[in-house]
Amino acid sequence: MPDQAERSSESPSSSTTDEAVNRQQFELDRLKEAFDLLGVNACHWCHKYYRRAEPGALFDAGGGKLVCYACIPQWWPQCCAQLTTKEREDLEGKLVFWLKASHNAEVFKDPAKLPDSSQQELHLVAKCLECRGTGKSLGDDTCRFCMGRGTVWVIVSRKHA
Ligand SMILES: [Zn+2]
Ligand SMILES: [Zn+2]
Repeated sequence: MPDQAERSSESPSSSTTDEAVNRQQFELDRLKEAFDLLGVNACHWCHKYYRRAEPGALFDAGGGKLVCYACIPQWWPQCCAQLTTKEREDLEGKLVFWLKASHNAEVFKDPAKLPDSSQQELHLVAKCLECRGTGKSLGDDTCRFCMGRGTVWVIVSRKHA
């Protein structure tokens, strides 16, 4: 093959490396396409692959980011730190809704009533959505959804075998 001989006379090492990298990138792109076809997506946080259709496997955090259920406790605090108050409120509402719908999360307004920590699979402190964290409803009344605390506790209990 004449073109190969030509290239090797110029700078053999760099061109073979480039070629290998290009080939790897090509293979990776093809794999990604294949995973997409299969409905498999990687968790944005741990990069493990999950089936998109599996209920509760991946949380859609917006902007094309999917986070697996196992990563939520580590991912969420870090994610919050990068969001504006408004963005955080929106995403928190979405996350709490998803946890309730897919993982039977319960919302507690009284921290004294929480299940024993050994029974908690996931523990999240969220702003009360009813009063937007003010603790008040309709002006002066204490918000009954959070007992005026402005925060609620979102708990997923361990499944009992
Ligand atoms: Zn993950
Ligand atoms: Zn409230």
